[in-house]
Amino acid sequence: MDLIVQRPEGLYCPPGDFHIDPWRRVDRAVITHAHADHARPGHGHYLAAAPGEGLLRSRLGEGITLQTLAYGETLEHNGVRISLHPAGHVLGSAQVRVEHEGRVWVASGDYRTTPAGAVPDRTCAPFEPVRCHTFITESTFGLPIYRWRPDAELFAEINTWWARNAEAGRASVLQCYSLGKAQRILANVDASIGPIVCHGAVEPLNRAYRAAGVPLPETRLVTEVSDKATLQRALVLCPGSAVGTPWIRRFGDVSDAFASGWMQIRGWRRRGGQDRGFVLSDHADWPGLLSAIGASGAERVIVTHGSVPVLVRYLQEQGLQAESFETEYGDEA
Ligand SMILES: [Zn+2]
Ligand SMILES: [Zn+2]
Repeated sequence: MDLIVQRPEGLYCPPGDFHIDPWRRVDRAVITHAHADHARPGHGHYLAAAPGEGLLRSRLGEGITLQTLAYGETLEHNGVRISLHPAGHVLGSAQVRVEHEGRVWVASGDYRTTPAGAVPDRTCAPFEPVRCHTFITESTFGLPIYRWRPDAELFAEINTWWARNAEAGRASVLQCYSLGKAQRILANVDASIGPIVCHGAVEPLNRAYRAAGVPLPETRLVTEVSDKATLQRALVLCPGSAVGTPWIRRFGDVSDAFASGWMQIRGWRRRGGQDRGFVLSDHADWPGLLSAIGASGAERVIVTHGSVPVLVRYLQEQGLQAESFETEYGDEA
């Protein structure tokens, strides 16, 4: 019997009678992480990893019925043993391990392995492989062209860009996702270069990270800065949706950039029209996906959102039983 199947509401565990990251309202939802495509409002009961509690309440409301588990802690529900394991994606992100009558399935949600030779990012617990019979994997960057460089190299580039702009008296506007990406940037840039200004969509999430014990440098809202000269040395973090709004015009002449895994593709860099693109992702690259799948020991792999056909075919060529689930995951803006 399959431990996790697809239903119109989302991924479903029949013996346990609960859903994982469902996209329609259900009674019981296990949530892998707080991105909007995985953590939706309206479920009756939520179960998630404890470090992500503040983020989930910030996004879904303080009053949601939320039960949390420490990483590795187990919960027995309808004879199914449930536990959550670090996914390395954003604060509190988890792989869901379910065990029933000796069978083990793991649903990964989204995950990010530490690139070879790199130090794990300190904004969330690093990805831990979990042994299982069947592994449900994302494939956001499931093409061989996606290979991330170590963070140290990337952040040295970002710091150089910011320092040059500050010297020239221009704010450095870095567009990025508000949850996860922004905090990864904050944790890794050299805050001695200048002040850091965050958009109103980013700042509440910074607070949730700090409250969970992740130290981040001081950040300000633009309304808290009265001195215009200060803004001209600032690093500004905002979602792409802030571009072209009155908010962004307060900074005057800026250098703008976008931080995303998609920046690895030349066409994306051109289309965006920014001065710079930095290849920064909170998902596994191609070698990372393959290493996580290998380390799971699974003989059967089910691929969700991303480059599904390419990864499925590749895994089949490696002799694995591989197939796909149709999901409504994918846009975490
Ligand atoms: Zn995500
Ligand atoms: Zn996702």
